Amino acid sequence: MNHRDIIAAIATAPGRGGIGVIRISGPALKTFALGLTPRTLQPRRAVLSPFLDASGNPLDEGLALFFAAPHSYTGEDVLELQGHGGPVVMRQLLQRCLELGARLARPGEFTERAYLNGRMDLAQAEGVADLIEASTALAARAALHSLSGEFSQLIQQLIDKTVALRTLLEATLDFPEEEVTFLTAGRAGEQLSAVREQLAATLAATRQGSLLRDGIQVVLIGAPNVGKSSLLNQFAGDEVAIVTEVPGTTRDSVREQIEIDGLPVHIIDTAGLRETEDTVERIGINRTWAMIEKADLALLVSDASSTDESANAAIIDRLPAGLSRIHVINKIDLANGAGKREQTDAGACVWVSAKTGEGLPLLKQAIWEHAGWHPSGEGVFTARVRHVEALQAAQHHLALAAGLTDRLELYAEELRLAHEALCAITGEYTPDDLLGEIFSTFCIGK
Ligand code: GDP
Repeated sequence: MNHRDIIAAIATAPGRGGIGVIRISGPALKTFALGLTPRTLQPRRAVLSPFLDASGNPLDEGLALFFAAPHSYTGEDVLELQGHGGPVVMRQLLQRCLELGARLARPGEFTERAYLNGRMDLAQAEGVADLIEASTALAARAALHSLSGEFSQLIQQLIDKTVALRTLLEATLDFPEEEVTFLTAGRAGEQLSAVREQLAATLAATRQGSLLRDGIQVVLIGAPNVGKSSLLNQFAGDEVAIVTEVPGTTRDSVREQIEIDGLPVHIIDTAGLRETEDTVERIGINRTWAMIEKADLALLVSDASSTDESANAAIIDRLPAGLSRIHVINKIDLANGAGKREQTDAGACVWVSAKTGEGLPLLKQAIWEHAGWHPSGEGVFTARVRHVEALQAAQHHLALAAGLTDRLELYAEELRLAHEALCAITGEYTPDDLLGEIFSTFCIGK
C-alpha cells in the first residue's frame, strides 16, 4: 500500500453546521498548503486564514491547523481546515484539495494510517470506530477505554506472559540435557496456570465488552393491544414507541433499540408479520423473518386479563426451534396479580404490569441474565466478536499445552498458536520480536 500519497476528506457530518472540517494527511503538507493559504503554518498553532482557489480568490475563511509528522493522529503531516460548515463551502474546499494533488480518503483511512504508522494498535483503532458508533453513554465510555489502550494493555499482559513461557520452552528445547532444570526453575507449570487464569478473566470482560457494543436481538411477539409498546416505553424511559388504543395500528417500525441496564437491546417487531399479496410488504416480512432467524431471545407477551392467544399462534409456530423464549404476562394490575418470575413447563415466565411498573425489574433481570450481561458496567471496554473468538482460540491452545508437558515440542507449538491468536487482537504478530525477546532475556552463553 502506498502511504506516500495525500488523502483528504470532509471530517464533519454532512449538512449545515457552524463549523465544517476538512482533514488532510500525507507527506510534505506545508508545501501542499501553499496552494490553500497565504499564511505560514506553525505546528499546533491555529492560524486564521482565507482558503484560496486556483486563482488566489478566497473560497472561505477559517482556521488552518497543522500537525507535523510524526506528532499527529496519523503519524504523517496532518492539516485541518476549519471553515464554515455549509455543504457548498465544504465541497469547494475538498475539490480544491483534490486539484492540489490529494485524493479522496477511503472510510477509516486516517485511522488505518495511524495504525500502520504505529500510532495505535488494532484494538485501539477499533475503539475509535466504536466510540463514534456508540449507542449508549456506557458504550461510549467503554469505547473510550478501548481507544485509550485499556483493553490492549490486558491483551499485552497476556502476550508478555505467553512470551515468557515460550522463551522458557524454546531454551529447554535448545538445551535438552537441562530440561528439568529449566522448566522447574522457571516454574513453567505455575506460569501456565497463571496465564490461563488471567485469560479466563479477560475473556469474561471481553464478552461483556462485545455485548456492550453489539447488544442482543430480541423478537417481540404478542397480539395487538397486549401492551408491547407500553413495555418498550417502560424500558426505554421515554416515548420511543407510540402507544395507541386502536388494535393493530401500534407500531410500524421493524427495529427499535432500547437499553436495559446498559445492555443495548435491538427489538425486532413482529407487528407487520401477516399474510399479504403486496410485493413490497412481502419483502419487508421476509426481512423480518431473516432477522428472527438470527435473534437471541423471543419475548412472548400476553394479557393477564384476556386469554385470546390465537393471533400469534402462526408466528410462534414458525419461530426457530432453538430460540430461547421468555413469556411475559402483562397487565397483572387488571388481574390482581403480583410481579413474579417462575420457571414453568412452558419456559421462563415473568408477570408484570407495564402500567404500574410492577415486575419489570424481574423481567429486566431475566433478559440480562439470558444475555450473560453484568449490569455493573464498571471498567468495561468495548470489544468485538473477533476479540472474543481470538481469546477463545488462545484459551483452547493453552488448555492443550497444559496436557502436553511430556511432549515439549507439541507444548511449544500450542504456546506459539496461543501467542499468535493473542497478537491477532492487537494486530502485531511479528515472530522476529519473539526472537529478540528470547535473546535478550536469556543468557545463551552460559
Ligand atoms: P400493543 O398493541 O401490544 O403495543 O399495546 P399497547 O402498548 O399499545 O397497549 C394497549 C393498551 O393497553 C393501552 O391502552 C395501554 O395503556 C394498555 N396497557 C398496556 N399495558 C398495560 C398494563 O400493564 N396495565 C393496564 N391496565 N393497561 C395496560
